[in-house]
Amino acid sequence: KSTPEKKPDWFKIKLPGGDNYTELKKNLRDNKIWTVCEEASCPNLTECWAAKTATMMILGGTCTRACRFCHVDTGNPKGVINQEEIANAANMAKVMALNYLVITSVDRDDLPDFGASHFANVVESVRENHPKTLVEVLVPDFNAVEEHMDTLAKSNPFVIAQNVETVKRLTHVVRDRRAGYEQSLNCLKYYKDNYPHISTKTSLMVGLGETMEELIECMDDLRSVNCDIITFGQYLRPTQRHLAVERYYTPAEFEELKNIAYEKGFKFVASGPLVRSSYKAADYLKHLREQ
Ligand code: SF4
Ligand code: SF4
Repeated sequence: KSTPEKKPDWFKIKLPGGDNYTELKKNLRDNKIWTVCEEASCPNLTECWAAKTATMMILGGTCTRACRFCHVDTGNPKGVINQEEIANAANMAKVMALNYLVITSVDRDDLPDFGASHFANVVESVRENHPKTLVEVLVPDFNAVEEHMDTLAKSNPFVIAQNVETVKRLTHVVRDRRAGYEQSLNCLKYYKDNYPHISTKTSLMVGLGETMEELIECMDDLRSVNCDIITFGQYLRPTQRHLAVERYYTPAEFEELKNIAYEKGFKFVASGPLVRSSYKAADYLKHLREQ
């Protein structure tokens, strides 16, 4: 099946620019810091960076899994971890004067703890060296091993995100066979039950062929494990080798999803064509302060 020909108009975006942006980019390169925002040519960069929010990827650039929507390389990183990432994350928070740093990673099924202790070291480094920056982690499922989830949670990130990515029925079409819908729900449940002070979050892509009923069922499943935050964004096909887009949701449909999610009891919802897991992540904080 081929993707609908043309992206609708609401995908037109403003490219980042200006003296401040050029200077910051140079500063990042001088410090050997790479952001996901730039590498993924994220359409939200101007907005997120203005809000002092950015995303960093750790545990290298090769994933041991192969999800059918994802553009990251698949392979075997053979247990190699770049320890410099620990200092780089704190440095990124400093150089960008971040209020909010999202740390994500590839999946590392080649590591004995699936990367949990490295994640924890990175979070602790940012919290110690740049305490003003809040850290959100978007983590692999660590095969749902409790010991590894404890390792991560004890580093005390502000938010732990584990993405279900899609509705239950499409999970095995969209995600790697080792990932599971129930497994992601179990991870979210474990974090919330055992570390209730940490907010939990998940993200879904829409446009993969799911129905509204399935999306609502998914929201109910997530609320049953007390997931606090949810985001909805349009799935965009990275290359012709990836899953086709079934359809583009309209901004009004994203608004409808947002309203339903709030009715279901999520504390914070981001929903829109260009929304990514980390989009306006710091708005959750604003929301908490306003309460
Ligand atoms: Fe991409 Fe994450 Fe799937 Fe790896 S596990 S292929 S990084 S979505
Ligand atoms: Fe960076 Fe995420 Fe914002 Fe995109 S949505 S600019 S990746 S923080």
